[in-house]
Amino acid sequence: MKLVRYGNPGKEKPGLIDADGQLRDLSGVMGDITPDQLGDKALARLRRLKVDQLARVRSTPRLGCPVASVGKFVAIGLNYADHAAEAGVPIPKEPVVFMKATSCIQGPDDPVMLPRGSVKGDWEVELGVVVGARARYVSQKDALEFVAGYCVVNDVSEREFQLERGPQWDKGKGCDTFGPIGPWLVTRDEVPNPQKLSMWLDLNGERRQSGNTRTMIFSVAKLVSYVSQFMTLLPGDVITTGTPPGVGMGSKPQRFLQKGDVMALGIEGLGEQRQRVVPFRR
Ligand code: ZN
Repeated sequence: MKLVRYGNPGKEKPGLIDADGQLRDLSGVMGDITPDQLGDKALARLRRLKVDQLARVRSTPRLGCPVASVGKFVAIGLNYADHAAEAGVPIPKEPVVFMKATSCIQGPDDPVMLPRGSVKGDWEVELGVVVGARARYVSQKDALEFVAGYCVVNDVSEREFQLERGPQWDKGKGCDTFGPIGPWLVTRDEVPNPQKLSMWLDLNGERRQSGNTRTMIFSVAKLVSYVSQFMTLLPGDVITTGTPPGVGMGSKPQRFLQKGDVMALGIEGLGEQRQRVVPFRR
C-alpha cells in the first residue's frame, strides 16, 4: 500500500494511492496516519479494505509527510562509500548517527527555506525507513519485521552550520523545512528488498545524484538493529539512511542552494519529491 496524508499543513487527511494511481480518502477509516496505525495488524486491516469503495479525491491537493507525529527523526551519515570519498572522510567503522529536529519535517513538495545567514545549503536524496513496532535491541535478522515501510527523504543540510560551527552535525540538519518526507509511505510488503532501489536527484533539471541502495555500507536491517542498541525505536519514528554521491559540497566546483533553485528527487517505487528553494523569512 501507498499511504499519504493530504491537505493543508496541520489539517492533513489520511489517504491511499490505489492501483491506478488515484488518491482515495481514508477519513472514514481512521482519523490520521498516526504511529498506532503502522503496526502489522493495523496495516493488515487496511489491506482488507475494498479500495474502490473509498471516495476518490478528484483534486490534486498538497501532500504532507505521510506519517503524523513522527517521534524521532534519526539520520545516518556517510553510509555510501562513494559519498564518504567525495566528503573527503574515511569510511566509518560503525554507522554515524545524528538527529534531525522533528520540527524540520514537511511535505514532499513544500518549499525549502534557507535559514538566516545560510550560504551552504545542500541536498541529499535518501531512503527513509518508517518504524512500525517498538524495537529495542533487535537482531539484524529480525530487524525488517519492525519496519512499517519506506519513503523518500531529502536530508537538506547547511554545510557551514553542520561542519564549520562545532563538532556535531545537528545544527546544519534540523533547520525549518530541512526534512521533506514522502510523497508516500510504501508498506514493506511492496519493497521486498530495500537494498536494490535506484535513487536520483536533479537540481534545476540537471542530474546531480544517482545511486542505488545496493551500495550502502550498512544495510537497512543493520541500521535498524544498530540504532535499537542505543535508543528504543517507536512506531512512527523515521530513520533516514544516508545519501549517495553528488551533493553540492562534493561537486567541483562546489554548488550550494540559491533561492529559485528547484530540487527534484525520487527513489524507485517510492515516488518523487519537488521543492523550490526560497529565501529566509521569519
Ligand atoms: Zn544525509
